[in-house]
Amino acid sequence: MRSLSVVLSLLLVAAVKSQENWNYTRKGDDWEGVCQTGIRQSPINILSRWTIPRFAGLPLRLSNYDQEVPVTVTVDQHHFTIRIDPDPSVRIAISGGGLRGNYVLQSAHFHYGSEHLIDTKRYALEAHLVHYREIYGNRTDAATNDPEGIAVLGTLYCEATANSNLEQVLQGANGEQVKLRFRDFLPRNLDFYRYQGSLTTPPCSEAVVWTVFKNSLPISQQQVDAIKGNFPDDVTSTYRNVQRLNTRRVERWGFRSGFQSKVDFLKSSLNILG
Ligand SMILES: [Zn+2]
Repeated sequence: MRSLSVVLSLLLVAAVKSQENWNYTRKGDDWEGVCQTGIRQSPINILSRWTIPRFAGLPLRLSNYDQEVPVTVTVDQHHFTIRIDPDPSVRIAISGGGLRGNYVLQSAHFHYGSEHLIDTKRYALEAHLVHYREIYGNRTDAATNDPEGIAVLGTLYCEATANSNLEQVLQGANGEQVKLRFRDFLPRNLDFYRYQGSLTTPPCSEAVVWTVFKNSLPISQQQVDAIKGNFPDDVTSTYRNVQRLNTRRVERWGFRSGFQSKVDFLKSSLNILG
């Protein structure tokens, strides 16, 4: 009996270990559990012309996003990312924009080589601002108990000019004390794509309402290299391969210009009916 419990606990340790010791060598294709069996996984390739327009509803509301707050910047070698934790004394939150309730910002991090593709285009970088539903009080409970427990804002960065906000992040990663405004991680125009998905790293929990902004922010080649420089040379990118959409629909919010053509409108209508 005792030897059985020893074997069982060893197996448990092995299972937990294999879930923790993941990497990007196969871009997530070798991750286990829900990462393999799930049906609403992230990231996805967003094909803009097949997205469904949403005209009604409150716009996305940002609380304390404009405030400059002290942050802790951590180079996380376990998850191959730079993580930013805001000072917990400031409540930074989002609501509206189709979200059911209030979501509090827990932390932000980056993937080099964007995870989401828009019309099959991969961007240089993607920032994830991870929020949990406020009623749960913490991220773990929200991710475990609620298919909409987590709300992530995803911002794509296109290789162009240097980004002063990211320069601050890099200084923070070098150990300097920095303050950041989280609004600076979002494009000025907040038009976005919305779908129901998952965490993009193990355990790939299917608990995420995704908001991916249509417009990108600039980043310089040197800044991309500086971010990569924090991680081993063989970690050339940190994105998971795109996942099947299955029966999901991707909505588009905002987009004041509306439909690009009557053909688009008809296709969208057929998509809604179909
Ligand atoms: Zn992420």
